[in-house]
Amino acid sequence: MGKNYNPSRVKINRSYTVIEVSEILEVHPKTVRNWIHAGLPLVDEKRPLLIDGVDLRIHLKRKRKADMYPCKAHEMYCFKCREPKSPCVESLQFIAKPAGMAQMSGHCCECGCHANKYVSWRDVNQIWVELGGKLPIAEKHLILMGQALLNCPLAEVFDHE
Ligand SMILES: [Zn+2]
Repeated sequence: MGKNYNPSRVKINRSYTVIEVSEILEVHPKTVRNWIHAGLPLVDEKRPLLIDGVDLRIHLKRKRKADMYPCKAHEMYCFKCREPKSPCVESLQFIAKPAGMAQMSGHCCECGCHANKYVSWRDVNQIWVELGGKLPIAEKHLILMGQALLNCPLAEVFDHE
């Protein structure tokens, strides 16, 4: 189902609204919102949502690779190794994001390159255990950034926050 987006239409020195992205890449705005849910970063949390051109280009390239090499829940695509890799558990962090999402980041266990992706908070425990983490997930691996975590299975871990 590969539509060929043209990343060269994206200028790296400006930011875009969802509608602008949908126009230059000729995709539905809903597709762009799906990309945001899948990990395309936003400039900030303000409205209208703005996407940095650099991030968009990276995302399009990453998406192409990810379509070729699907990652397991606990894996992230490493750009140096050029395949899905597990991050080493010591480097693993989960950063709270809106809508029940968390940004997972860490260093590739093979080459040490930094990688990240978005996951659901629902899956954080399982990812943590699969990577050899011991429960409860250590505080140093969680960054909350002032977000209220709704329906979070780990809520008891940050009761004292
Ligand atoms: Zn690597």
